[in-house]
Amino acid sequence: MERLLSDINHILVRERELFGEDALSEPRASMSPSGEPATSAGRDPEPPPADDLVLFNIPPAKTPAAAEPWAGAESVASLNDMICTCVKCPLGQTRTKFVFGVGNPKATLMLVGEAPGADEDAQGEPFVGRAGQLLNKILEAIGFRRDDVYICNILKCRPPNNRKPRVEEVEQCLPYLRKQIQLVRPALILCLGLTAAENLLGTTESLGRLRGRTLQYEGTPLMVTYHPAALLRNPNWKRPTWEDVQAARALHDELVRKRGANG
Ligand code: URA
Repeated sequence: MERLLSDINHILVRERELFGEDALSEPRASMSPSGEPATSAGRDPEPPPADDLVLFNIPPAKTPAAAEPWAGAESVASLNDMICTCVKCPLGQTRTKFVFGVGNPKATLMLVGEAPGADEDAQGEPFVGRAGQLLNKILEAIGFRRDDVYICNILKCRPPNNRKPRVEEVEQCLPYLRKQIQLVRPALILCLGLTAAENLLGTTESLGRLRGRTLQYEGTPLMVTYHPAALLRNPNWKRPTWEDVQAARALHDELVRKRGANG
């Protein structure tokens, strides 16, 4: 019995990581093309009853430690001011500039990449190098200007030699991004590459399996596509990326329309 409960608990934790809170309150809600559970007809999903969480001992979603002053930031600008001298991980010692994020603080589309590269580290702005120029073109192709959207990364400081972010770096930095997402309240998050998706969704699924689906990050619809730097290496991925971003644009517009209709 104990084993069974522990297995159920494990499955529920994985479901919540992948699909958000509503995975617990419905038999796996099938996703409509709009990215909402087909059963909820555009309403905010009900949180699961608190009792369920106690019964299965599900850890609450990670929120910033209440004691940290930045957890109370009321705007992205003040959040930046509060965290831009961060030295919680060793990247704080090696960075040139802290790369917080850029764009419309009330953007309805948020793009999340991996970590600053050399150009971003030098300029203090995400996606300003070659990959960034390609990203600007991709955005333009679906009718967005760079300053319509909000652009940020999983890490705010550059890993040496552009290596992949380490678990302990992500652990320190991800709470800042979570807070940023809470403040911007995008209608849709688009993950650029697997690192962003893995860390926001807590999944180990491949990019191939994550693309083309509407997933959820804590109730916010989320889609995944290739990282622009990957497209520079492999132009064959441009076509599928084009399909992804067109789908993202269509879903974004539908979500924004619904937001407007719901006041
Ligand atoms: N790659 C990223 O993931 N982010 C940037 O800001 C630049 C390159």
